[in-house]
Amino acid sequence: MTTPPEDAMPRLNPETIAARASHHVDPTTGAIGAPIQPSTTFERDADGGYSRGHVYARIGNPNREQLEGVLASLEGGDACAAFSSGSAATAAVFQSLSAGDHVVVPADCYHGTANLLRDVFARWGLDATFVDATEPEQVRAAIKSNTRLVWVETPSNPMLKITDIAATAAIAHEAGALCVCDNTWATPILQRPLDLGADLVVHSTTKYLGGHSDVLGGAVVAGEGSKAFQRIREIQGEYGAVPSAFDCWLVLRGIRTLHLRMRAHCDNAGKIARYLSGHPNVEAVHYPGLPAHPGHAIATEQMNGYGGMLSFQVSGGPEQAMQTAARLKLFTRATSLGGTESLIEHRASIEGPGTTTPDNLLRMSVGIENAEDLLEDLSQALG
Ligand SMILES: *Cc1c(COP(=O)(O)O)cnc(C)c1O
Repeated sequence: MTTPPEDAMPRLNPETIAARASHHVDPTTGAIGAPIQPSTTFERDADGGYSRGHVYARIGNPNREQLEGVLASLEGGDACAAFSSGSAATAAVFQSLSAGDHVVVPADCYHGTANLLRDVFARWGLDATFVDATEPEQVRAAIKSNTRLVWVETPSNPMLKITDIAATAAIAHEAGALCVCDNTWATPILQRPLDLGADLVVHSTTKYLGGHSDVLGGAVVAGEGSKAFQRIREIQGEYGAVPSAFDCWLVLRGIRTLHLRMRAHCDNAGKIARYLSGHPNVEAVHYPGLPAHPGHAIATEQMNGYGGMLSFQVSGGPEQAMQTAARLKLFTRATSLGGTESLIEHRASIEGPGTTTPDNLLRMSVGIENAEDLLEDLSQALG
């Protein structure tokens, strides 16, 4: 007898969905690992139809559909479109709007998102206002008659600011606009924006979902009956910024341990944040898990853990920050985040001219190594 299908079961908890991502018993061989299906095209029926559900790989592929199903379930959503990067997913959301529309975006959003709006979409007539989204009233004040979308990113990059998702979604909806939340840093294990009123969730699966710094990907997830999502699905197939079958398989493989990795990232980041807050050579620590963080109360309410990202400002200036990063042995100096290994980065220099990031700030993606080893390395580097 084969195992009964899982879709016959009541709604599962995220840990169960993650651990069984891509688990699939092949009816002919009994294999329990999902096969990778690289075919670009699929056989038509004699009457010209496609009763097996697949036409052409830009439109759909079995591995991509598996990934989309898992991401939708993890977010408590109904549908998901997977992309070849987080930036392609973000772009698809903006592409679903029209020339003459207006969007409200946090000033502290991922710099690639701001760059897309300034360098690409401004030329296509999409108007953007950047605000301090930690103050819902500032979001409200930025709303115009043509505002169609309010972007939320919490915790934010690189200042770890916290936005109240429910309050911001309510402001967007009063204006007849969509609320879209970039949930890359929190992941659905720590935060579920659709449950808090967001209409769409965006991910860079390159980060925690993939989890091993070896695959690029993105996704847009929507709640039940989302009209906005229909357009995203069309854009996915028409523009074709889609992930390969192998990339989808890798992200699914990463997701299997997501819940365990997130717990370890949170534990280690909390310990490091507390250590750095007491260090004489550290001027400021930005981590929502610290009671002194201005967003601590909201983070406690809307998250199940404070995440694996933190940033801190080294006393002195940019040189002291650079030297501290250079003395670290276990933290690799590299951009990106969400892998099992700890990374550190001087943010202002990658963001380039015009950045508002303090020049003595280092951003850390805290990995899942032993916390004592990480603390010892920080201690020798900070002096
Ligand atoms: C990395 C990142 C993105 C962009 O994702 P890519 O996969 O690099 O294109 C978007 N938002 C956030 C918050 C990110 O960290």
